[in-house]
Amino acid sequence: MSMRTRVVLLGPPGAGKGTQADRLAARLGVPHVSTGELFRHHVSTQTPLGREADTYMRRGDLVPDAVTLSMVADRLADADAARGAVFDGFPRTVAQATALDQQLAERGHPLDGAVLLEVPEDVLVLRLTGRRFCAECQATYHLEWSPPAIADRCDRCGGPLRRRADDDEATVTRRLAVYRAETFPLVAFYEKSGRLWRVDGLGSVDQVAARLEGVLASD
Ligand code: ADP
Ligand code: ADP
Ligand code: ZN
Repeated sequence: MSMRTRVVLLGPPGAGKGTQADRLAARLGVPHVSTGELFRHHVSTQTPLGREADTYMRRGDLVPDAVTLSMVADRLADADAARGAVFDGFPRTVAQATALDQQLAERGHPLDGAVLLEVPEDVLVLRLTGRRFCAECQATYHLEWSPPAIADRCDRCGGPLRRRADDDEATVTRRLAVYRAETFPLVAFYEKSGRLWRVDGLGSVDQVAARLEGVLASD
């Protein structure tokens, strides 16, 4: 059975995009391209791009499209992206989605489609406020639902676990509003061209992963 290898994971903050993209990319043998992670790397290494992005991220606002798109174009030029990619947290605006279609078309490998991970808003807030990440390897945990074996230590690398600066309740509320206003229109964008799959994001990480593989199987 072959699988689609150029896919966008779409959904609100906390839907499980990062968790699923990580597993799916490993399974497909293609890179996991997370614009949030790329931005956080720029912020922590204090590049000019990172300093610009940080002011938006702290408020829970989107980084401007031009900044985001040039960063993604650089990432797609890397050799490992030739066979495909699992996009997580990108695109987030209709302008970004249009630009992604253009970039992939120029390479002769169009996007297969987007998977919308559906999770009710009350659950999203609990997922985000309990989220922790490894400062060394970026692995994602949840205090209640995917805790590390040893408190505050990453299972994979032993690194310290942190809470993201934008996962406090006020910024989470703002990010959910930004999602509804700017990113939710992508559901119609992909649906119109017959490239949207809906997946129930509730249940265990394994259950959601199985549903995702189900929709991405291309006989
Ligand atoms: P996103 O990238 O969409 O913002 P994450 O993958 O970071 O979402 O997940 C948000 C939080 O929810 C993390 O703490 C993660 O461990 C947890 N999580 C992810 N998937 C599930 C699931 N199926 N059930 C319970 N918690 C989950
Ligand atoms: P989550 O999946 O929990 O919403 P991300 O890690 O994807 O968080 O993104 C964190 C922040 O980085 C966003 O709130 C936004 O400020 C910025 N960001 C990430 N991806 C994009 C994008 N494609 N366009 C604009 N801003 C982005
Ligand atoms: Zn780690």
